[in-house]
Amino acid sequence: MRNIFLLVTLAAFSCNTPANPDSGKQDSTATSMEPAMENTHTKDSVALPGIEVPVLCYHQIREWKGNESRLAKDVIVPPARFKAQMQILADSGYQTVLPDQLYDYLTKGTPLPPKPIMITFDDGVVDQYTIGAPELKKHGFKGVFFIMTISLGRSIYMSKEQVKGLAEEGHAIETHTWSHQNLKKYQPEDWDEQIVKSCKQLEDITGKPVRYLAYPFGVWTQEGIPELKKRDIKAAFQLSTKIDENEPLYTIRRMIVPGDWNPESMIRAMNKTFKTRPGL
Ligand SMILES: [Zn+2]
Repeated sequence: MRNIFLLVTLAAFSCNTPANPDSGKQDSTATSMEPAMENTHTKDSVALPGIEVPVLCYHQIREWKGNESRLAKDVIVPPARFKAQMQILADSGYQTVLPDQLYDYLTKGTPLPPKPIMITFDDGVVDQYTIGAPELKKHGFKGVFFIMTISLGRSIYMSKEQVKGLAEEGHAIETHTWSHQNLKKYQPEDWDEQIVKSCKQLEDITGKPVRYLAYPFGVWTQEGIPELKKRDIKAAFQLSTKIDENEPLYTIRRMIVPGDWNPESMIRAMNKTFKTRPGL
């Protein structure tokens, strides 16, 4: 059991590495998330007036313990920094959206607020509940919490009651799989174990459907997408590549916000990474 816990603890530090917002590096990977018109239109037939919704990704919100590694700085955001990042979003007029809203926008063109943003949290670390959620509340924001369910109730992770509390506050509770394995290593039986089981666990806690997934380590696979569809996952969020033209709903991109970005750096990176169409 201890080994599993150590693995999971490490997993909380390991969801991929963002580019420096000032380096221009993200330009090379930036992609336009064209709306998927899978229901009533072909992909090219209609260009929705709109924007690519920025999706931010957080892990831990706590003080650094010293001279943290690059990897740690990417996933640990000091509370004051997080507060400042939320403040600049509120001051800039951003309004949070949840996965169902993004899905309806991408598939049906259902309008979103003028400056939509999605704020997501991975792994289910407890400071997302104790520090993150109250900060969101100050600004009327709602977040998306992707939980790896094996960790529920363990030392640095949220309890079931805390997850339920977030759902009752109107935040979205979605899956980050059961035990945070890389999809590339899945055996056939893992799909039910990792996806179905974790969704059911979360649905039992919140009483609400769980239909969205954040890939562990942000890594998606082409072979995995049909498996997700079979298990009623409507869309999935990644960190590793460009959006896949043929599967845009299952390769929605996110941007990690590292702990050493000041609020202005974050806004600059958002503007580089996610394309805003002129006039909106
Ligand atoms: Zn993770």
